Amino acid sequence: MLPPWNIEALNPPFGDPGFFLYHNYSGQGLLFDLGDLHNLPPKKILQASHIFISHGHIDHLIGFDQLLRTTLNRPRHLNLYGPPGIIEMIGHKLLGYQWNLTAHYEMLITVHAVHRQFMEKCTFACADKFKPGSLITYDRTDNTIFAGPTFLIKAVTLDHGTPCLAFTLNESIQVNFRPEELQRRHLKPGPWLTQMRQTLQSDTADDTEIEVAGTCYPVRELAGAIAITKPGRKIAYVTDIGFNSENRNRLLPLIANADLLLCEAAFLDSAADKAESSHHLTATQAGELAHEAKVRRLKLFHFSPRHHDLEKEFYLQAQARFSGPVN
Ligand SMILES: [Zn+2]
Ligand SMILES: [Zn+2]
Repeated sequence: MLPPWNIEALNPPFGDPGFFLYHNYSGQGLLFDLGDLHNLPPKKILQASHIFISHGHIDHLIGFDQLLRTTLNRPRHLNLYGPPGIIEMIGHKLLGYQWNLTAHYEMLITVHAVHRQFMEKCTFACADKFKPGSLITYDRTDNTIFAGPTFLIKAVTLDHGTPCLAFTLNESIQVNFRPEELQRRHLKPGPWLTQMRQTLQSDTADDTEIEVAGTCYPVRELAGAIAITKPGRKIAYVTDIGFNSENRNRLLPLIANADLLLCEAAFLDSAADKAESSHHLTATQAGELAHEAKVRRLKLFHFSPRHHDLEKEFYLQAQARFSGPVN
């Protein structure tokens, strides 16, 4: 059976940061940051519909042009999420080209700015020469910035000398039906199983009933008999943050107990002063975060080229603080 998510680094660890996540069942592709995309085949770039940008430094955003180039003549609607200022940054990038021959292109880009208490969005239409549409402010509940069909994306704002977002992908609970129990109860599989799975995943199942072949059943009770449920996975993406108590206090509840933490480790201990002055993490601090958050696995990325011949050291230093698998 395929794993639900393929997770692929955009570049080797000394290259530009970012990950491509592809959901094998729904075909949905996500990008976390837009470093250089030249190692990602166009087929995969075209699968990305939602893009989550931590902050606007060039190594996290330079891939936008390639995303645009690859997607431009397709009827696609991209949604980008980033910190305050992201709408202006993308707007200015789009202003940097001539758009006199693209009036028949259907591509749309909606950019969402994640503020601490609210969201703003603005849509740029290729057919309208990517002029900014009206700015719409909208609310969000808790830290959720995007609700997908089977998962949520949550974010918190941290400090990197500039606001920088950390993200988690939180899957809905997983529901598997037991064919032998369906058979024993003479319940014929059909669309009602999908409806039941969606009800269970939406967290509204408590007093909901479902009709199967003319009979109504309480969803929770029926699920207890015919389904096996387990919690969904949590994948965290953290990059470009200073290791200070304010950042850690905001970050740890978000990434607690993640199945996988994708975490920057820009510097080795020998350059800890440089990490501090540039608001980055050392490998040791990435290991410490993984330990404190009790995550299951840690994947490091975004190594500084100054340590180019010391790749193994990054893993060893993180491993000294975190007992789970590190790669
Ligand atoms: Zn940065
Ligand atoms: Zn960076």
